[in-house]
Amino acid sequence: MSLEDRVEGLRARIQRACEAADRDPSGIELLPVSKRQPLSLIQEAAALGFTRFGENYVQEGADKAMAAPELQIVLLGPLQRNKAKPALQHFEEIQSLDRPELAERLRRLAEEQDLVRPVWIQVDLWEEASKLGGCTDRELPALIESLGEDPRLPLRGLMAIPPPDDQAAFGLMAALRERLQQELGRPLRLSMGMSGDLEVAIAAGSDQVRIGTAFFGAR
Ligand SMILES: *Cc1c(COP(=O)(O)O)cnc(C)c1O
Repeated sequence: MSLEDRVEGLRARIQRACEAADRDPSGIELLPVSKRQPLSLIQEAAALGFTRFGENYVQEGADKAMAAPELQIVLLGPLQRNKAKPALQHFEEIQSLDRPELAERLRRLAEEQDLVRPVWIQVDLWEEASKLGGCTDRELPALIESLGEDPRLPLRGLMAIPPPDDQAAFGLMAALRERLQQELGRPLRLSMGMSGDLEVAIAAGSDQVRIGTAFFGAR
């Protein structure tokens, strides 16, 4: 199947999921996840109109950003403190912020380098996924506090990787987003849903689905 066919198939899936959930598809971002895919394939996707791509590894994403500066690369994978500097330099957004120490380091570096980088907080309400990153419900207030409403790191939303086939888990994330929006008094986006579960995610209220294999093929 060609990339174009896969993208068409994905758009149809998103469309159907939106119809079922009575939602407007234009409100849902399809973010291609291009980890371990060659730049040539990413450029093929760019020719179809995609400009933002999710990457998991700092070095790989930085290499791609340098090779193709017209692309906007979003960091999805766990971020070590010692990689914070290249992450800020080469990624346009950081979706895997999950601890105060990292927020503090990013704030210091963003100020030094005079950069603005939207961030998303990665949440793990299941405490199963320390290897995937994510903060617990309990750790959230301290993390939000550590961002200090710094205009250099505006908080865009919440990102999660709920356990597959666990509808309730997607619902929990949606409820958490609602609660935080109320507490903070401003809108937050919700990024959840991957190749295998975008329908469940959209039904629960996701605003961004991050699609790897169903977009680019196997990796
Ligand atoms: C790899 C990855 C994706 C995409 O996964 P697929 O199942 O290939 O669609 C989405 N989000 C994150 C955080 C990932 O690491």
